[in-house]
Amino acid sequence: MRFYNTMSRKKEEFKSLEPGTVRIYSCGPTVYSYAHIGNMRTYIFMDELRRVLRWNGYKLLHVMNITDVGHLTSDADEGEDKLEKAAKTQQKSPWDIAKYYTEIFLRDIDRLHIDRPELIPRATDHIQEMIDFVEKLCERGYGYETSDGIYYDISKYAGYGCLSGAKLDEQQAGARVEVNSEKRHPADFAIWKKAPKEHIMQWESPWGMGYPGWHIECSAMGLKYLGEEFDIHTGGVDHIPIHHENEIAQTVGLLGHPAARLWMHGEFMLVNNGKMSKSLGNTYTLDDLEERGYDPLVFRYFCLNGHYRNKLNFTFDGMDAAKAALNNLRAAVAAHKGASDEISDEELAAFLSAFEDAINDDLNIPKALGIVWNMARSHKKSQKLYDLIMKCDSVLSLDLDRAPEEKQTAEQVDIDAEIEALIEQRQAARKAKNFAEADRIRDELKARGIALIDTPQGVRWEKA
Ligand code: AMP
Ligand code: ZN
Repeated sequence: MRFYNTMSRKKEEFKSLEPGTVRIYSCGPTVYSYAHIGNMRTYIFMDELRRVLRWNGYKLLHVMNITDVGHLTSDADEGEDKLEKAAKTQQKSPWDIAKYYTEIFLRDIDRLHIDRPELIPRATDHIQEMIDFVEKLCERGYGYETSDGIYYDISKYAGYGCLSGAKLDEQQAGARVEVNSEKRHPADFAIWKKAPKEHIMQWESPWGMGYPGWHIECSAMGLKYLGEEFDIHTGGVDHIPIHHENEIAQTVGLLGHPAARLWMHGEFMLVNNGKMSKSLGNTYTLDDLEERGYDPLVFRYFCLNGHYRNKLNFTFDGMDAAKAALNNLRAAVAAHKGASDEISDEELAAFLSAFEDAINDDLNIPKALGIVWNMARSHKKSQKLYDLIMKCDSVLSLDLDRAPEEKQTAEQVDIDAEIEALIEQRQAARKAKNFAEADRIRDELKARGIALIDTPQGVRWEKA
Protein backbone atom coordinates (compact mmCIF):
# COMPACT_ATOMS: atom_id res chain seq x y z
CA MET A 1 0.00 0.00 0.00
CA ARG A 2 1.36 3.39 -0.96
CA PHE A 3 0.05 6.82 0.04
CA TYR A 4 1.11 10.30 -0.93
CA ASN A 5 2.55 12.15 2.07
CA THR A 6 2.04 15.92 1.94
CA MET A 7 5.04 16.27 4.24
CA SER A 8 7.58 14.43 2.05
CA ARG A 9 5.78 15.34 -1.19
CA LYS A 10 5.98 11.78 -2.47
CA LYS A 11 4.22 8.45 -2.34
CA GLU A 12 5.50 6.28 0.48
CA GLU A 13 5.09 2.62 1.31
CA PHE A 14 2.71 2.37 4.27
CA LYS A 15 3.63 0.54 7.44
CA SER A 16 1.66 0.99 10.62
CA LEU A 17 3.41 1.89 13.86
CA GLU A 18 1.65 -0.91 15.68
CA PRO A 19 1.25 -4.15 13.71
CA GLY A 20 -2.33 -4.72 12.62
CA THR A 21 -3.76 -1.39 13.81
CA VAL A 22 -3.80 2.04 12.20
CA ARG A 23 -4.35 5.15 14.28
CA ILE A 24 -5.83 8.08 12.37
CA TYR A 25 -6.86 11.63 13.17
CA SER A 26 -9.22 13.55 10.88
CA CYS A 27 -10.14 17.19 11.29
CA GLY A 28 -13.90 17.21 11.68
CA PRO A 29 -16.62 19.75 11.01
CA THR A 30 -17.22 23.12 12.62
CA VAL A 31 -20.86 22.81 13.56
CA TYR A 32 -22.29 26.30 13.19
CA SER A 33 -24.01 25.63 9.89
CA TYR A 34 -24.91 22.86 7.43
CA ALA A 35 -21.99 20.98 5.92
CA HIS A 36 -21.93 21.46 2.14
CA ILE A 37 -21.12 18.93 -0.54
CA GLY A 38 -17.51 20.17 -0.70
CA ASN A 39 -17.06 19.29 2.98
CA MET A 40 -18.66 15.94 2.23
CA ARG A 41 -16.16 15.24 -0.52
CA THR A 42 -13.39 15.46 2.08
CA TYR A 43 -15.21 13.04 4.40
CA ILE A 44 -15.83 10.62 1.53
CA PHE A 45 -12.06 10.64 0.93
CA MET A 46 -11.54 9.95 4.65
CA ASP A 47 -14.01 7.08 4.41
CA GLU A 48 -12.28 5.56 1.37
CA LEU A 49 -9.03 5.60 3.33
CA ARG A 50 -10.73 3.70 6.17
CA ARG A 51 -12.22 1.14 3.83
CA VAL A 52 -8.97 0.50 1.97
CA LEU A 53 -7.07 0.05 5.23
CA ARG A 54 -9.70 -2.40 6.41
CA TRP A 55 -9.56 -4.25 3.07
CA ASN A 56 -5.87 -4.73 3.84
CA GLY A 57 -6.72 -6.34 7.17
CA TYR A 58 -6.03 -3.44 9.53
CA LYS A 59 -8.05 -2.59 12.60
CA LEU A 60 -8.67 1.12 12.98
CA LEU A 61 -8.55 3.58 15.81
CA HIS A 62 -9.81 6.70 14.14
CA VAL A 63 -10.64 10.01 15.78
CA MET A 64 -12.63 12.80 14.16
CA ASN A 65 -13.27 15.89 16.27
CA ILE A 66 -16.40 18.00 16.35
CA THR A 67 -15.47 21.68 16.61
CA ASP A 68 -18.29 22.95 18.79
CA VAL A 69 -16.33 25.84 20.27
CA GLY A 70 -16.64 28.85 18.08
CA HIS A 71 -13.56 29.80 16.27
CA LEU A 72 -13.20 33.09 14.58
CA THR A 73 -14.33 33.89 11.06
CA SER A 74 -10.91 33.41 9.50
CA ASP A 75 -8.13 30.92 10.16
CA ALA A 76 -6.33 33.77 11.89
CA ASP A 77 -7.41 34.97 15.30
CA GLU A 78 -9.62 37.77 14.08
CA GLY A 79 -13.19 38.54 13.28
CA GLU A 80 -16.39 37.41 14.83
CA ASP A 81 -16.82 33.99 16.39
CA LYS A 82 -18.66 31.75 13.90
CA LEU A 83 -20.74 29.84 16.44
CA GLU A 84 -21.69 32.91 18.43
CA LYS A 85 -22.62 34.70 15.22
CA ALA A 86 -24.94 31.84 14.21
CA ALA A 87 -26.37 31.78 17.74
CA LYS A 88 -27.12 35.50 17.56
CA THR A 89 -28.84 35.37 14.17
CA GLN A 90 -30.86 32.26 15.04
CA GLN A 91 -31.56 33.41 18.61
CA LYS A 92 -30.38 30.14 20.10
CA SER A 93 -27.52 29.33 22.44
CA PRO A 94 -24.23 28.30 20.81
CA TRP A 95 -24.65 24.90 22.51
CA ASP A 96 -28.03 24.38 20.84
CA ILE A 97 -26.61 25.47 17.49
CA ALA A 98 -23.72 23.02 17.82
CA LYS A 99 -25.99 20.16 18.90
CA TYR A 100 -28.41 20.76 16.03
CA TYR A 101 -25.77 20.86 13.30
CA THR A 102 -23.83 17.94 14.78
CA GLU A 103 -26.90 15.74 14.50
CA ILE A 104 -27.49 16.80 10.90
CA PHE A 105 -23.83 16.22 10.05
CA LEU A 106 -23.91 12.69 11.46
CA ARG A 107 -27.15 11.95 9.65
CA ASP A 108 -25.62 13.17 6.38
CA ILE A 109 -22.45 11.11 6.68
CA ASP A 110 -24.57 8.03 7.38
CA ARG A 111 -26.60 8.69 4.25
CA LEU A 112 -23.38 8.89 2.23
CA HIS A 113 -22.14 5.58 3.68
CA ILE A 114 -19.28 7.40 5.37
CA ASP A 115 -18.34 5.02 8.13
CA ARG A 116 -18.38 6.75 11.50
CA PRO A 117 -14.88 6.96 13.03
CA GLU A 118 -14.43 4.95 16.23
CA LEU A 119 -14.23 8.14 18.32
CA ILE A 120 -16.01 11.44 17.61
CA PRO A 121 -15.00 13.69 20.52
CA ARG A 122 -16.37 17.18 20.99
CA ALA A 123 -14.04 20.06 21.72
CA THR A 124 -16.19 21.37 24.58
CA ASP A 125 -15.65 18.08 26.44
CA HIS A 126 -11.86 18.56 26.33
CA ILE A 127 -11.26 22.08 27.58
CA GLN A 128 -9.14 20.84 30.52
CA GLU A 129 -6.85 18.86 28.18
CA MET A 130 -6.38 22.01 26.11
CA ILE A 131 -5.62 24.15 29.14
CA ASP A 132 -3.02 21.58 30.28
CA PHE A 133 -1.48 21.63 26.80
CA VAL A 134 -1.28 25.43 26.77
CA GLU A 135 0.20 25.54 30.27
CA LYS A 136 2.94 23.11 29.27
CA LEU A 137 3.70 25.10 26.11
CA CYS A 138 4.15 28.18 28.30
CA GLU A 139 6.39 26.30 30.73
CA ARG A 140 8.53 25.12 27.84
CA GLY A 141 8.87 28.65 26.50
CA TYR A 142 6.65 28.27 23.42
CA GLY A 143 3.72 30.30 24.73
CA TYR A 144 3.52 33.91 25.86
CA GLU A 145 0.74 36.02 27.28
CA THR A 146 -0.69 39.23 25.81
CA SER A 147 -3.63 41.31 26.97
CA ASP A 148 -6.04 39.23 24.87
CA GLY A 149 -4.68 35.72 25.08
CA ILE A 150 -1.83 33.23 25.00
CA TYR A 151 0.11 33.03 21.77
CA TYR A 152 2.45 30.45 20.27
CA ASP A 153 5.88 31.90 19.58
CA ILE A 154 6.77 30.49 16.16
CA SER A 155 10.28 31.93 16.28
CA LYS A 156 11.01 29.15 18.84
CA TYR A 157 10.29 26.46 16.25
CA ALA A 158 12.78 26.44 13.38
CA GLY A 159 10.75 23.87 11.46
CA TYR A 160 7.66 26.10 11.18
CA GLY A 161 6.30 25.86 7.62
CA CYS A 162 7.61 22.33 6.95
CA LEU A 163 4.26 21.02 5.70
CA SER A 164 3.41 23.79 3.24
CA GLY A 165 6.98 24.77 2.43
CA ALA A 166 6.18 28.41 3.26
CA LYS A 167 9.10 30.50 4.42
CA LEU A 168 8.59 32.42 7.63
CA ASP A 169 10.32 35.61 6.49
CA GLU A 170 8.12 35.66 3.36
CA GLN A 171 5.07 35.42 5.59
CA GLN A 172 6.36 38.31 7.62
CA ALA A 173 6.89 40.46 4.54
CA GLY A 174 3.48 39.52 3.13
CA ALA A 175 1.54 39.75 6.36
CA ARG A 176 -1.46 42.02 6.55
CA VAL A 177 -1.58 45.08 8.73
CA GLU A 178 -1.14 43.75 12.21
CA VAL A 179 -4.22 43.97 14.43
CA ASN A 180 -2.48 42.78 17.53
CA SER A 181 0.70 44.74 18.11
CA GLU A 182 1.55 42.66 21.17
CA LYS A 183 2.26 39.64 18.99
CA ARG A 184 5.98 39.03 18.56
CA HIS A 185 5.60 37.73 15.01
CA PRO A 186 2.64 38.27 12.66
CA ALA A 187 2.26 34.50 12.23
CA ASP A 188 2.15 33.81 16.00
CA PHE A 189 -1.27 32.33 16.69
CA ALA A 190 -3.60 32.18 19.68
CA ILE A 191 -3.63 28.96 21.67
CA TRP A 192 -5.96 30.47 24.29
CA LYS A 193 -8.15 33.57 24.05
CA LYS A 194 -9.27 35.72 26.94
CA ALA A 195 -13.02 36.13 26.69
CA PRO A 196 -14.75 39.48 26.67
CA LYS A 197 -17.78 39.47 29.01
CA GLU A 198 -20.29 39.15 26.18
CA HIS A 199 -18.63 36.02 24.78
CA ILE A 200 -21.07 33.25 25.68
CA MET A 201 -18.79 30.22 25.59
CA GLN A 202 -16.05 30.69 28.18
CA TRP A 203 -14.23 28.62 30.75
CA GLU A 204 -12.07 29.23 33.79
CA SER A 205 -8.35 29.00 33.19
CA PRO A 206 -5.07 30.09 34.78
CA TRP A 207 -5.39 33.22 32.60
CA GLY A 208 -8.94 34.11 33.67
CA MET A 209 -12.12 33.30 31.76
CA GLY A 210 -11.51 32.34 28.17
CA TYR A 211 -11.79 29.79 25.39
CA PRO A 212 -9.31 27.70 23.39
CA GLY A 213 -7.79 28.51 20.02
CA TRP A 214 -8.94 26.26 17.18
CA HIS A 215 -5.62 24.58 16.44
CA ILE A 216 -5.00 23.45 20.02
CA GLU A 217 -8.17 21.39 19.92
CA CYS A 218 -6.85 18.89 17.39
CA SER A 219 -3.40 18.64 19.01
CA ALA A 220 -4.91 18.00 22.45
CA MET A 221 -7.52 15.45 21.38
CA GLY A 222 -5.09 13.66 19.05
CA LEU A 223 -2.64 13.31 21.94
CA LYS A 224 -5.30 12.09 24.34
CA TYR A 225 -6.78 9.39 22.13
CA LEU A 226 -3.96 8.41 19.78
CA GLY A 227 -0.85 9.02 21.86
CA GLU A 228 2.42 10.80 21.16
CA GLU A 229 2.81 9.21 17.75
CA PHE A 230 0.16 7.99 15.36
CA ASP A 231 -0.05 6.87 11.73
CA ILE A 232 -2.16 9.20 9.61
CA HIS A 233 -3.60 12.71 9.83
CA THR A 234 -6.19 13.82 7.26
CA GLY A 235 -7.97 17.03 6.29
CA GLY A 236 -8.75 19.22 3.31
CA VAL A 237 -5.96 21.04 1.42
CA ASP A 238 -7.06 24.35 2.93
CA HIS A 239 -5.75 23.08 6.27
CA ILE A 240 -2.17 22.70 5.06
CA PRO A 241 -0.82 26.26 5.37
CA ILE A 242 -2.25 27.31 8.75
CA HIS A 243 -4.22 24.79 10.73
CA HIS A 244 -1.95 21.79 10.24
CA GLU A 245 1.22 23.84 10.33
CA ASN A 246 0.07 25.15 13.71
CA GLU A 247 -0.90 21.69 14.95
CA ILE A 248 2.60 20.46 14.16
CA ALA A 249 4.20 23.46 15.89
CA GLN A 250 2.14 22.87 19.04
CA THR A 251 2.94 19.17 19.18
CA VAL A 252 6.63 19.73 18.59
CA GLY A 253 6.57 22.39 21.31
CA LEU A 254 5.12 19.90 23.77
CA LEU A 255 6.75 16.62 22.78
CA GLY A 256 9.86 17.64 20.87
CA HIS A 257 8.65 15.75 17.77
CA PRO A 258 5.59 15.73 15.49
CA ALA A 259 2.80 13.24 16.22
CA ALA A 260 1.50 12.24 12.78
CA ARG A 261 3.74 10.29 10.42
CA LEU A 262 1.69 10.59 7.27
CA TRP A 263 -0.28 13.67 6.23
CA MET A 264 -3.03 13.14 3.66
CA HIS A 265 -5.09 15.98 2.20
CA GLY A 266 -8.17 15.93 0.01
CA GLU A 267 -8.38 18.46 -2.82
CA PHE A 268 -11.29 20.86 -3.11
CA MET A 269 -14.57 20.50 -4.87
CA LEU A 270 -15.43 23.37 -7.21
CA VAL A 271 -18.83 24.34 -8.54
CA ASN A 272 -18.97 25.28 -12.22
CA ASN A 273 -15.18 25.59 -12.02
CA GLY A 274 -15.33 28.24 -9.32
CA LYS A 275 -15.24 28.53 -5.57
CA MET A 276 -18.19 27.40 -3.53
CA SER A 277 -19.52 30.32 -1.58
CA LYS A 278 -22.65 31.41 0.21
CA SER A 279 -22.79 34.67 -1.73
CA LEU A 280 -22.84 32.80 -5.05
CA GLY A 281 -25.64 30.58 -3.77
CA ASN A 282 -23.78 27.44 -4.80
CA THR A 283 -23.04 25.83 -1.46
CA TYR A 284 -25.39 22.89 -1.93
CA THR A 285 -26.18 20.50 0.89
CA LEU A 286 -27.09 16.85 0.62
CA ASP A 287 -30.73 17.85 1.20
CA ASP A 288 -30.56 20.22 -1.77
CA LEU A 289 -29.38 17.35 -3.96
CA GLU A 290 -32.11 15.05 -2.68
CA GLU A 291 -34.72 17.69 -3.39
CA ARG A 292 -33.51 17.72 -6.96
CA GLY A 293 -33.90 13.98 -7.18
CA TYR A 294 -30.37 12.75 -6.52
CA ASP A 295 -29.86 9.93 -4.07
CA PRO A 296 -26.90 10.50 -1.71
CA LEU A 297 -25.12 7.53 -3.26
CA VAL A 298 -25.26 9.25 -6.65
CA PHE A 299 -23.16 12.00 -5.08
CA ARG A 300 -20.85 9.38 -3.62
CA TYR A 301 -20.48 7.83 -7.09
CA PHE A 302 -19.80 11.30 -8.50
CA CYS A 303 -16.98 11.80 -5.95
CA LEU A 304 -15.45 8.35 -6.45
CA ASN A 305 -14.99 9.23 -10.12
CA GLY A 306 -12.30 11.74 -9.20
CA HIS A 307 -8.99 11.05 -7.47
CA TYR A 308 -8.86 12.67 -4.03
CA ARG A 309 -5.72 14.66 -4.91
CA ASN A 310 -7.36 16.30 -7.94
CA LYS A 311 -9.88 19.09 -7.90
CA LEU A 312 -13.36 17.89 -8.73
CA ASN A 313 -15.79 20.14 -10.55
CA PHE A 314 -19.40 19.77 -9.48
CA THR A 315 -22.11 20.35 -12.08
CA PHE A 316 -25.67 19.10 -12.34
CA ASP A 317 -24.82 17.62 -15.75
CA GLY A 318 -22.13 15.64 -14.00
CA MET A 319 -24.66 14.51 -11.40
CA ASP A 320 -27.09 13.42 -14.14
CA ALA A 321 -24.30 11.40 -15.72
CA ALA A 322 -23.45 9.85 -12.34
CA LYS A 323 -27.08 9.00 -11.73
CA ALA A 324 -27.38 7.23 -15.07
CA ALA A 325 -24.02 5.51 -14.67
CA LEU A 326 -24.77 4.16 -11.20
CA ASN A 327 -28.10 2.86 -12.41
CA ASN A 328 -26.49 1.20 -15.43
CA LEU A 329 -23.79 -0.31 -13.27
CA ARG A 330 -26.36 -1.83 -10.92
CA ALA A 331 -28.23 -3.22 -13.93
CA ALA A 332 -25.01 -4.74 -15.30
CA VAL A 333 -24.21 -6.26 -11.89
CA ALA A 334 -27.72 -7.70 -11.53
CA ALA A 335 -27.23 -9.68 -14.74
CA HIS A 336 -24.62 -11.80 -12.95
CA LYS A 337 -26.89 -12.81 -10.11
CA GLY A 338 -27.51 -16.56 -10.22
CA ALA A 339 -25.84 -16.81 -13.66
CA SER A 340 -23.66 -19.81 -14.41
CA ASP A 341 -21.32 -19.05 -17.33
CA GLU A 342 -17.96 -20.73 -16.88
CA ILE A 343 -15.34 -18.31 -15.56
CA SER A 344 -11.83 -19.46 -14.63
CA ASP A 345 -10.19 -18.84 -11.28
CA GLU A 346 -7.37 -17.08 -13.16
CA GLU A 347 -9.79 -14.57 -14.68
CA LEU A 348 -11.32 -13.88 -11.29
CA ALA A 349 -7.89 -13.51 -9.68
CA ALA A 350 -6.81 -11.08 -12.41
CA PHE A 351 -9.84 -8.87 -11.77
CA LEU A 352 -9.25 -9.00 -8.04
CA SER A 353 -5.57 -8.09 -8.24
CA ALA A 354 -6.23 -5.24 -10.66
CA PHE A 355 -8.78 -3.85 -8.24
CA GLU A 356 -6.44 -4.26 -5.31
CA ASP A 357 -3.50 -2.67 -7.13
CA ALA A 358 -5.65 0.38 -7.87
CA ILE A 359 -6.95 0.94 -4.34
CA ASN A 360 -3.51 0.35 -2.85
CA ASP A 361 -1.87 2.88 -5.17
CA ASP A 362 -2.64 6.03 -3.19
CA LEU A 363 -6.38 5.32 -3.20
CA ASN A 364 -6.88 5.22 -6.94
CA ILE A 365 -10.61 4.71 -6.55
CA PRO A 366 -11.53 6.04 -10.03
CA LYS A 367 -9.36 3.30 -11.53
CA ALA A 368 -10.81 0.69 -9.18
CA LEU A 369 -14.30 1.77 -10.18
CA GLY A 370 -13.32 1.26 -13.84
CA ILE A 371 -12.20 -2.28 -13.01
CA VAL A 372 -15.54 -3.03 -11.36
CA TRP A 373 -17.18 -1.75 -14.53
CA ASN A 374 -15.07 -4.23 -16.53
CA MET A 375 -16.19 -7.06 -14.25
CA ALA A 376 -19.82 -6.05 -14.58
CA ARG A 377 -19.59 -5.73 -18.38
CA SER A 378 -17.90 -9.10 -18.84
CA HIS A 379 -19.76 -11.08 -21.52
CA LYS A 380 -19.56 -14.09 -19.18
CA LYS A 381 -22.34 -13.80 -16.64
CA SER A 382 -21.51 -15.56 -13.41
CA GLN A 383 -22.50 -15.63 -9.77
CA LYS A 384 -18.79 -15.83 -8.99
CA LEU A 385 -18.27 -12.43 -10.61
CA TYR A 386 -21.28 -11.14 -8.75
CA ASP A 387 -19.71 -12.22 -5.46
CA LEU A 388 -16.41 -10.61 -6.39
CA ILE A 389 -18.13 -7.34 -7.33
CA MET A 390 -19.93 -7.33 -4.00
CA LYS A 391 -16.61 -7.84 -2.23
CA CYS A 392 -15.24 -4.80 -4.09
CA ASP A 393 -18.36 -2.90 -3.06
CA SER A 394 -17.15 -3.12 0.54
CA VAL A 395 -14.67 -0.44 -0.57
CA LEU A 396 -16.90 1.52 -2.94
CA SER A 397 -20.06 1.19 -0.82
CA LEU A 398 -22.44 2.06 -3.65
CA ASP A 399 -25.11 -0.57 -2.91
CA LEU A 400 -24.29 -2.33 -6.16
CA ASP A 401 -26.73 -5.08 -5.22
CA ARG A 402 -29.61 -2.61 -5.29
CA ALA A 403 -32.17 -3.21 -8.05
CA PRO A 404 -31.71 -0.68 -10.85
CA GLU A 405 -34.51 1.75 -11.55
CA GLU A 406 -36.38 0.89 -14.69
CA LYS A 407 -35.38 2.86 -17.71
CA GLN A 408 -37.98 5.36 -18.83
CA THR A 409 -39.97 4.08 -21.78
CA ALA A 410 -40.20 6.21 -24.93
CA GLU A 411 -43.86 6.70 -24.17
CA GLN A 412 -43.11 8.03 -20.68
CA VAL A 413 -40.54 10.47 -22.12
CA ASP A 414 -43.25 11.89 -24.47
CA ILE A 415 -45.72 12.27 -21.62
CA ASP A 416 -43.11 14.09 -19.52
CA ALA A 417 -42.41 16.51 -22.39
CA GLU A 418 -46.12 17.27 -22.72
CA ILE A 419 -46.43 17.99 -19.00
CA GLU A 420 -43.44 20.28 -19.10
CA ALA A 421 -44.93 22.16 -22.05
CA LEU A 422 -48.15 22.67 -20.08
CA ILE A 423 -46.20 23.97 -17.09
CA GLU A 424 -44.44 26.47 -19.33
CA GLN A 425 -47.78 27.65 -20.75
CA ARG A 426 -49.02 28.12 -17.21
CA GLN A 427 -45.94 30.15 -16.27
CA ALA A 428 -46.47 32.35 -19.33
CA ALA A 429 -50.13 32.85 -18.42
CA ARG A 430 -49.19 33.85 -14.88
CA LYS A 431 -46.60 36.28 -16.16
CA ALA A 432 -49.26 37.84 -18.39
CA LYS A 433 -51.53 38.03 -15.33
CA ASN A 434 -53.97 35.69 -17.07
CA PHE A 435 -54.78 33.88 -13.86
CA ALA A 436 -57.90 32.18 -15.18
CA GLU A 437 -55.84 30.43 -17.84
CA ALA A 438 -53.10 29.59 -15.31
CA ASP A 439 -55.67 28.01 -12.99
CA ARG A 440 -57.25 26.10 -15.85
CA ILE A 441 -53.88 24.53 -16.70
CA ARG A 442 -53.22 23.72 -13.07
CA ASP A 443 -56.60 21.96 -12.86
CA GLU A 444 -55.93 20.06 -16.05
CA LEU A 445 -52.63 18.84 -14.67
CA LYS A 446 -54.29 17.98 -11.39
CA ALA A 447 -56.86 15.89 -13.21
CA ARG A 448 -53.96 13.96 -14.77
CA GLY A 449 -52.51 13.32 -11.32
CA ILE A 450 -49.73 15.92 -11.53
CA ALA A 451 -48.97 18.16 -8.54
CA LEU A 452 -47.03 21.41 -9.02
CA ILE A 453 -44.57 22.60 -6.41
CA ASP A 454 -43.18 26.12 -6.47
CA THR A 455 -39.51 26.34 -5.45
CA PRO A 456 -36.97 29.20 -5.60
CA GLN A 457 -35.46 27.42 -8.62
CA GLY A 458 -38.78 27.30 -10.46
CA VAL A 459 -41.71 24.93 -10.68
CA ARG A 460 -41.19 21.25 -10.02
CA TRP A 461 -43.81 18.58 -10.68
CA GLU A 462 -44.63 15.27 -9.15
CA LYS A 463 -47.05 12.48 -9.82
CA ALA A 464 -49.50 12.80 -6.95
P1 AMP B 1 -14.98 23.09 8.15
O1 AMP B 1 -16.22 22.55 8.80
O2 AMP B 1 -15.16 24.41 7.52
O3 AMP B 1 -13.78 23.04 9.08
O4 AMP B 1 -14.65 22.11 6.93
C1 AMP B 1 -14.76 20.73 7.05
C2 AMP B 1 -13.86 20.04 6.05
O5 AMP B 1 -14.25 20.31 4.71
C3 AMP B 1 -12.40 20.44 6.16
O6 AMP B 1 -11.60 19.26 6.11
C4 AMP B 1 -12.17 21.30 4.93
O7 AMP B 1 -10.84 21.17 4.48
C5 AMP B 1 -13.13 20.68 3.94
N1 AMP B 1 -13.59 21.57 2.86
C6 AMP B 1 -14.04 22.83 2.94
N2 AMP B 1 -14.43 23.31 1.72
C7 AMP B 1 -14.22 22.30 0.84
C8 AMP B 1 -14.41 22.14 -0.58
N3 AMP B 1 -14.90 23.11 -1.36
N4 AMP B 1 -14.07 20.95 -1.14
C9 AMP B 1 -13.59 19.93 -0.38
N5 AMP B 1 -13.39 20.02 0.95
C10 AMP B 1 -13.70 21.18 1.57
ZN1 ZN C 1 -7.76 19.90 13.01
